[in-house]
Amino acid sequence: MRDKQVDIAIIGSGAGGGTVAKALSPLCRDGVSVAVLESGPRLKEEEYTGRELEMAERLYFDGGGVLTRDRSVTLAFGHAYGGSTVVYTGTSLPLRESTLRKWNVRGLDFDDLQRRSRKYFAENHVHLLPDECINDNNRLFAGACRTLGYRVEQFPVNVDGCRGSGLCNLGCPNGAKMGTHRVQLPQAERNGVTVVTNCAVDRIDPAARTVRATVRREAIGHPPAWEPGEYRVRARAVIVAAGAVNSPAILLRSGLAGDLKALGRYFTCHPALILVGQHDHPITNFSGHPKSYYSDHFAESEGFLLETCMYFPFVTAKSLAGFGDEPRALMSAMDRLQMILVLALDAALPGNRVTVNGRGEPVVDYRLSEPVRASLVKAMRASARIFFASGARRVHAPAGRTFFVEAGDSDRLDDLIPLEGFKAGKVSVSSAHLMGGCRMGDGPAASVTDAWGGVHGVPWLFVADASLFPGSAEINPYITIMALADRVAERVRGRLPELPQ
Ligand SMILES: Cc1cc2nc3c(=O)[nH]c(=O)nc-3n(C[C@H](O)[C@H](O)[C@H](O)COP(=O)(O)OP(=O)(O)OC[C@H]3O[C@@H](n4cnc5c(N)ncnc54)[C@H](O)[C@@H]3O)c2cc1C
Repeated sequence: MRDKQVDIAIIGSGAGGGTVAKALSPLCRDGVSVAVLESGPRLKEEEYTGRELEMAERLYFDGGGVLTRDRSVTLAFGHAYGGSTVVYTGTSLPLRESTLRKWNVRGLDFDDLQRRSRKYFAENHVHLLPDECINDNNRLFAGACRTLGYRVEQFPVNVDGCRGSGLCNLGCPNGAKMGTHRVQLPQAERNGVTVVTNCAVDRIDPAARTVRATVRREAIGHPPAWEPGEYRVRARAVIVAAGAVNSPAILLRSGLAGDLKALGRYFTCHPALILVGQHDHPITNFSGHPKSYYSDHFAESEGFLLETCMYFPFVTAKSLAGFGDEPRALMSAMDRLQMILVLALDAALPGNRVTVNGRGEPVVDYRLSEPVRASLVKAMRASARIFFASGARRVHAPAGRTFFVEAGDSDRLDDLIPLEGFKAGKVSVSSAHLMGGCRMGDGPAASVTDAWGGVHGVPWLFVADASLFPGSAEINPYITIMALADRVAERVRGRLPELPQ
């Protein structure tokens, strides 16, 4: 066991951890030491190959195949220098005021959040893509929404020099996506922050104010900044930013559940469906930015968002209900598929929670509630209308009575895609927006941190990632995570002088 001493230890380097590292890095010039402990690798440029299974294994936690305890939802999250920002699509929207009202966190002000979100819009190069970068899949979606009278908007995205490879979710091989791995972390390192990759934190020892971590040697990526081995890192302030599954798990392993009844609870994840419609002619979707448009037309009334998307063969095949000739026929029409991603806006419930098993590994209990199932079925019908209005010959609705719904039956969608068709194990649900577990709030009875990410009752311990969300973001979350992490950095900066060595 080796001992290290730093002023500030940050666990995780994703949207939250990368942001807080950069925001605190000017302190290094005054002699403050900051270390980011990141369990994932830092890949070399040539290791971004764009190959689906290889990159899933390199960049996603458990290869992207983490399942909830009842196996009803697959959770995808990043495991790398830059966390999930390495694999995200980069669509950038601020939190809505109506969502913040539902969150109801005293001391979390909309204007403050907006101001900080705008800062990261500028820092991470967020803008609207010009028309020539919009591919067929996105054009068809926007056009059909307008025909049907569904509200549709273009996504601002954070790319710089995008070459339209469509590989965002496998880690951009052209270095064009402006995640924390491209923007905040390199800047933090230039200012003096040490980022230790391949460094998995097991737990925090609150009595000794130390972090227990293991650094591994891996076959891929740059070698870690510290020698392989076990470490005990003493810090004046510890900031946990390991994501909505692993931050609660670290705090649970650290024995903090006793005083914090909400720890691990109120996990939300925008349960998602990947839907496809088959055309008679090729649809450009393998080139261009994959996610340029969204519709929030049904967000308030039916609880779902529709977004464009492009998924790779393995993930697309996994999203189809059933086996045999029909899925095979659909997959062999891959170049003619139009794709839509559905996100259900799930409510935060105490029973949806992260716990740890006997080996200390995180386990996620998540039940697809009746309102979420109903939203997802209604979203299948709305998506089918969009596919048909775009000219699709047939669509696959996983809750449908038959594998395909043909264009000639487009006036019978309510009957052909029934609510009771949503059967456990038949419909493949995934999630890439993991939130909650260390929710902000007023006190330890119903929350884990205050409105500035400070863990109740532990003045040197902070949380700075998506686990802070008291409810779901109801929109793509990364900009809000960065805005919250920016607040946490401000609080740590103010409190550091009071914290003992
Ligand atoms: C495929 C995909 C597409 C997405 N697209 C978008 C999008 O277009 N727009 C948007 O707003 N959001 C998008 N998201 C969501 C967004 O990326 C996440 O919400 C955000 O990155 C979460 O930030 P975070 O800091 O909470 O966690 P992460 O960014 O996941 O970072 C957590 C980090 O902690 C590390 N870690 C975990 N456990 C430990 C440990 N024990 N010790 C040390 N380190 C640890 C992990 O390796 C990881 O690097 C997408 C996500 C995915 C997976």
